Amino acid sequence: MERWQRLLQQSIITPSKLAQLFKLTEVEITQIKRVISTYPMRINPYYLSLIKEKGDPIWKQAVPDISELNDAYGLDDPLCEEEQSPVPNLTHRYPDRVLFLVSNRCAMYCRFCTRKRKVGRKFVVNKETIQKGLEYIKRHTEIRDVLLSGGDPLLLTDAELEPILNALRKIRHVEIIRIGTRVPCTLPHRITGKLCQMLKRYHPLYVNTHFNHPAEITKQSAQACERLVNAGIPVGCQTVLLKGVNDDVATMKTLMQKLVKIRVKPYYLYQTDLTRGTSHFRTQVEKGLEIVKGLRGFTSGLCVPHYIIDAPGGGGKIPLLPDYFIKKDEKGWWLKNYKGQTFIYPNPGYEHLVNDNKETDPWVNL
Ligand SMILES: *Cc1c(COP(=O)(O)O)cnc(C)c1O
Ligand code: SF4
Repeated sequence: MERWQRLLQQSIITPSKLAQLFKLTEVEITQIKRVISTYPMRINPYYLSLIKEKGDPIWKQAVPDISELNDAYGLDDPLCEEEQSPVPNLTHRYPDRVLFLVSNRCAMYCRFCTRKRKVGRKFVVNKETIQKGLEYIKRHTEIRDVLLSGGDPLLLTDAELEPILNALRKIRHVEIIRIGTRVPCTLPHRITGKLCQMLKRYHPLYVNTHFNHPAEITKQSAQACERLVNAGIPVGCQTVLLKGVNDDVATMKTLMQKLVKIRVKPYYLYQTDLTRGTSHFRTQVEKGLEIVKGLRGFTSGLCVPHYIIDAPGGGGKIPLLPDYFIKKDEKGWWLKNYKGQTFIYPNPGYEHLVNDNKETDPWVNL
């Protein structure tokens, strides 16, 4: 058994150990028990070690909260992934790519998970569903990009994962393979040298990981990302905007800067989905816009993810941008920069507007 597997085995799945470590009250223990009878808990020793105190941003992501059961409006499947599944565990929403779920387990069950209906629960992945998914991909020559997800594909062993990658690589029209995984953050020991050696045989292969808070960037998680990148795998990050965890500009700026420092490119920042049991994590959309606005221009463009709402009802990812646009007229496009100063990008024939103004003022004031 590998080290990561031993760590997983030592995961906390009942509140007793938490109660000891953090001096929980009887009421708190009972509440956790009630939640985990619906939504399982799993906190592996590594992720547990990141919790500094009860209620901190790491705790909130990992420890069940009674609010999960008091969510009247949440939906089981807000993104309509099931409706858009031609075969079980494969969602074909966009023209050239599919989402293919190949594992139902994770190294930690995030309380805000979009697939809360599935992970660690009734969601069945087996050789047969994987085979059916592969056959679907083979039949559909328009699919050039396959996104392996779950659960977490890297909770499969190397020996379970490699045949899937191998089968995908044999399909001529599959150009790129992506793995969506949270283990670089939640169980970095899973990113072994051996795994990276295996993965690099299936290039072009991308990894999208998932960090939500600067405290998740540790020596171990940095090393895991470094190993992937050193195997030639571009690593991106999909962050979820979570109330009480990362819903302020300073935290998010630190997170993005630290990610870039470990060579992880912030890819998406997601507005929280309407998943049942996660409503206590939802923020206003304005909060997301404020955060993106506080990043763009104030720090490297590399640190700025796309802010996305995954439309309820299966509409897919929709980007939102803070408003840098003022108006357009026959002269050109009037824009605002990150400091709120106004500039014109002139239409062809109106270039003199920029020059005219340069002599008096570097920007055009409206
Ligand atoms: C997010 C997602 C993808 C991938 O989208 P990109 O914008 O290409 O990263 C593909 N299929 C589904 C169903 C998704 O939710
Ligand atoms: S690792 Fe991803 S799939 Fe697993 S519980 Fe967390 S958010 Fe959900």
